[in-house]
Amino acid sequence: MSLRKNKKLLILPGDGIGPEVMAEARRVIEWMAKHRSLTFDVAEGLVGGASLDAHGAPLTDATLSEAMAADAVLLGAVGGPQWDDLAFEKKPERGLLRLRKEMDLFANLRPAVVFDALADASTLKPDVVKGLDIMIVRELTGGVYFGEPRGIEELPDGTRRGVNTQVYTSPEIQRVARVAFELAGKRRRLVCSAEKSNVMESGALWREEVQKVHDEEFPDVELSHMYADNCAMQLVRNPKQFDVIVTDNLFGDILSDEAAMLTGSLGMLPSASLGMADSQGRRPALYEPVHGAAPDIAGKDMANPSAALLSLAMMLRYSFDLGGEADLIETAVKSVLNGGLRTADIMEPGKARVSTTVMGEAIIGELDKLAG
Ligand code: NAD
Repeated sequence: MSLRKNKKLLILPGDGIGPEVMAEARRVIEWMAKHRSLTFDVAEGLVGGASLDAHGAPLTDATLSEAMAADAVLLGAVGGPQWDDLAFEKKPERGLLRLRKEMDLFANLRPAVVFDALADASTLKPDVVKGLDIMIVRELTGGVYFGEPRGIEELPDGTRRGVNTQVYTSPEIQRVARVAFELAGKRRRLVCSAEKSNVMESGALWREEVQKVHDEEFPDVELSHMYADNCAMQLVRNPKQFDVIVTDNLFGDILSDEAAMLTGSLGMLPSASLGMADSQGRRPALYEPVHGAAPDIAGKDMANPSAALLSLAMMLRYSFDLGGEADLIETAVKSVLNGGLRTADIMEPGKARVSTTVMGEAIIGELDKLAG
């Protein structure tokens, strides 16, 4: 008998609708334990405003240590108006930023998938987005948001000058490119790298380094290069031409939000942030819905739990190599949508409006059918 150690999962529900959508994620984890013999050691902790209220800090050192020791972290959302007036370092969002920084999560994965049943929710024509399935890989810890020098200075003539620095080293580019190529290898084998090598030296370096990683390590994946402004246009003109897009922190911030909007709803969007794999192949990873704490609907059993459940599916696929189980969750979400159930955010005429818990129950019901 093998004494396989259980994988450690840390759940940080956070604030607002975070605990509500994470309760549904826990139900799916329990379902997986019962029906697929998957057992995780699940621990729960506080982050954001919840941690601030309990411990005076948006992320305690103890919770950070737990996150670093976990095989994956699943987070709900942080923030809310009751903490808006606090100093910057105290704000709930600092808890999430600290977690990302300390875990050195340099690759942010943002899938944009259009479910057939929701193709009409996009502002683009249904035939442009129907069947869309793209993945944006954004570099998350470098570039112009972190580069030095930075700041605002007063000039001798009394005018002011604001400075930020776009800076990338070759290892920073190579490691995020590898994540993109590895992902593409499990998808349609296409990577498009977006930069501005026509006007930026850091963009020229980006292009060269991505090409080098491709030629030396992933020649079986097709690589194309595109200027980021053209990529923004192509995303609304013909998004289905893309499989994986890899890009820097600034362009990725914009392009991933643009791609998200092709799908029509914040309540359906998962994300993953990955760090560097250690010698045993263990990679720090944080999975979270793209949406925030939604204080306007918090506590009302109205939130769409799909983004949280799809984040859980990403966790199973990318941290635990359980693609079959991830497929089950994604298929169950799809079936519930096809059956006409909708939370308020994706409500359409002729469909049945349901609560967070009813949506979660319906997804469990579909899992039962798929397993039975
Ligand atoms: P938000 O994503 O919380 O909400 C935007 C709108 O979308 C709201 O009308 C909300 O009701 C709706 N919405 C979001 N998720 C939904 C879901 N699952 N189901 C149904 N409707 C949903 O963004 P915001 O209003 O700009 O920010 C609210 C708070 O959340 C702020 O304190 C902000 O700082 C924080 N925030 C946190 C994160 C995070 O934790 N990663 C991200 C964004 C914002």
